[in-house]
Amino acid sequence: MNVAAARARCPICNKEIEGRPTNPSAPFCGVRCRQVDLGKWLDADYRVPVAETDEGDGEGEGRDGGTGGPAGSGVKVNTGRGGDA
Ligand SMILES: [Zn+2]
Repeated sequence: MNVAAARARCPICNKEIEGRPTNPSAPFCGVRCRQVDLGKWLDADYRVPVAETDEGDGEGEGRDGGTGGPAGSGVKVNTGRGGDA
């Protein structure tokens, strides 16, 4: 009877694996599956589309102080007290 611990399985190939220190590649069955998993992560999460251009900075977008319209002078919706009738 082996009641030590449930056999872990490699998440990549679903093979039963040994834990450390027997298997330094745990929780994977080997270095290869570990790298496969790493590659999956890198591919899925760290995929940053590089869309940066080093030119065109300066007066490209007239974004600030253009039309002179203060953003706070509009209609203020006060929903605090409304039972005044
Ligand atoms: Zn594996």
